[in-house]
Amino acid sequence: MKVGLTARTEAIAVLEAALPHGGLMTADEDLARFSRDWSGDHHGCPLAVARPRSVAETAAVMRLCSERRIPVVPQGGLTGLVGAAVAAPGANELVISLERLDAVRMVDPIDFAMIVEGGCILENAKKAAEKEDCLLPITFGAQGACQIGGNVATNAGGMNVLRYGMTRDLVLGLEVVLGDGRVWNGLNVLRKDNRGYDLKQLFIGSEGTLGVVTAAALKLFPKPAQVETALIALRSTGEAMALYARARRGCGDLVTAFELILRDGLEVAIRSRDDMADPLERAYPTYVLMELATSAPIDLRTLLETFLSDAQDLVADGVIAQSRAQSQRFWLYRETMVETQGRGGPYLRTDISVPVSKLAIFIDEALGNLNQRYPEALALAYGHVGDGNVHLNVIPPVGATAETITHLFEGAEETIFDVVDRLHGSISAEHGIGRVKQKAFLSRTDGVALDLAFTLKRALDPHFLLSPGRILPAPTSPET
Ligand SMILES: Cc1cc2nc3c(=O)[nH]c(=O)nc-3n(C[C@H](O)[C@H](O)[C@H](O)COP(=O)(O)OP(=O)(O)OC[C@H]3O[C@@H](n4cnc5c(N)ncnc54)[C@H](O)[C@@H]3O)c2cc1C
Repeated sequence: MKVGLTARTEAIAVLEAALPHGGLMTADEDLARFSRDWSGDHHGCPLAVARPRSVAETAAVMRLCSERRIPVVPQGGLTGLVGAAVAAPGANELVISLERLDAVRMVDPIDFAMIVEGGCILENAKKAAEKEDCLLPITFGAQGACQIGGNVATNAGGMNVLRYGMTRDLVLGLEVVLGDGRVWNGLNVLRKDNRGYDLKQLFIGSEGTLGVVTAAALKLFPKPAQVETALIALRSTGEAMALYARARRGCGDLVTAFELILRDGLEVAIRSRDDMADPLERAYPTYVLMELATSAPIDLRTLLETFLSDAQDLVADGVIAQSRAQSQRFWLYRETMVETQGRGGPYLRTDISVPVSKLAIFIDEALGNLNQRYPEALALAYGHVGDGNVHLNVIPPVGATAETITHLFEGAEETIFDVVDRLHGSISAEHGIGRVKQKAFLSRTDGVALDLAFTLKRALDPHFLLSPGRILPAPTSPET
């Protein structure tokens, strides 16, 4: 949207009045940290950044933006990977950052529930739950930076989805500021509630396009008293998936994580650090990080040892962590691989899912096709395979030109998505659509689904002012 100089000055003046105590930032040096996401691939300077301290201030900002037709982008910890939370370049969008709305309103160990504000950093919410001997199970690499509002808006997953579900499965209620400034208070901690439509579901995974999440009521679980971690080597991804199916039954459904790392990925981690050696005596094509957890007084270690020794037909080698430090060391292989995979430059990220039973086929076919078509690039597959979710990322060769990289990313993405389509999977299991995956999403979504999506969008945001151009394309003029 084009905002003329006078309109811009006026808009900033009214927003400043609604947000006293430094709640509106306009100076270039202040805007910088809100203008670039974690990956560095997406940047865009906003009109200004609003940092409300209360739900009332958030509502005032939204009301003013609605009246003046100013586009708004809700922003959390900027760890989303689809270019949704930064202002679109040249679009004069107002960023509304939730970072000052970060309180833990309550934790109740009898309800096994907590109410947390949208700007609360996930790790802080997890620590608050732990103080009451409870577990907030959303767990992933960005938890020290991402916010609860961002987790809800992206329906975040992570390592423990196979046991506890996605964020959607953990949300009991929401408080949302709508595009016109009205507040919908749907906060409750009820486990069962069948009063009409389940409105909270509309906002979960909506990527900031339908409302601003100012608070969430979340399910908690007993904090595990025992956790056991094993690093297991296998001869193939097919055998890894067979082990997974067996582990669900053989370990009393106590599996909390089942992460796949292929040899290439492990080598990326090992090469990047002097203090990181091969974890086992020899190299294997496939590794799995498996974790069991329980709060019950059972012998978890013996359960895991017995399971692994009974699975000798699948397990080529493996080691069970003898201490918390050794378990953290196992997880470090995975984290290091994720952090260093890009060699500091751009790389293609995907976060697809297929039915769990088809995952090994997906990896073999997609990796095979990529290696055949782009032998000079490095394709890495890893992920939360217990959920059928794989990150298949493609790293360009060192020294590739910008043009080569663009062609590689377009071609490699289509190669990967072709296999996803054939296996009836999803092109996004975790990160969402944002701006980056919009074209691929629209071309794969049927007319009825798109019609329903536009109907919802128009009902809640008739002028397409909330995160315009994310998920759905914005009309050519936001006034229509
Ligand atoms: C190292 C790393 C590991 C990751 N691992 C995982 C993983 O395992 N699983 C997974 O699902 N994701 C993962 N992610 C992606 C990312 O962390 C999640 O999508 C996270 O939930 C985003 O939260 P955020 O606060 O950073 O949101 P942002 O990036 O700031 O925003 C993401 C989207 O949410 C919207 N939004 C943010 N806050 C609000 C709000 N209060 N109200 C309404 N809309 C809002 C934004 O407009 C945007 O559309 C990972 C990212 C990184 C960098």
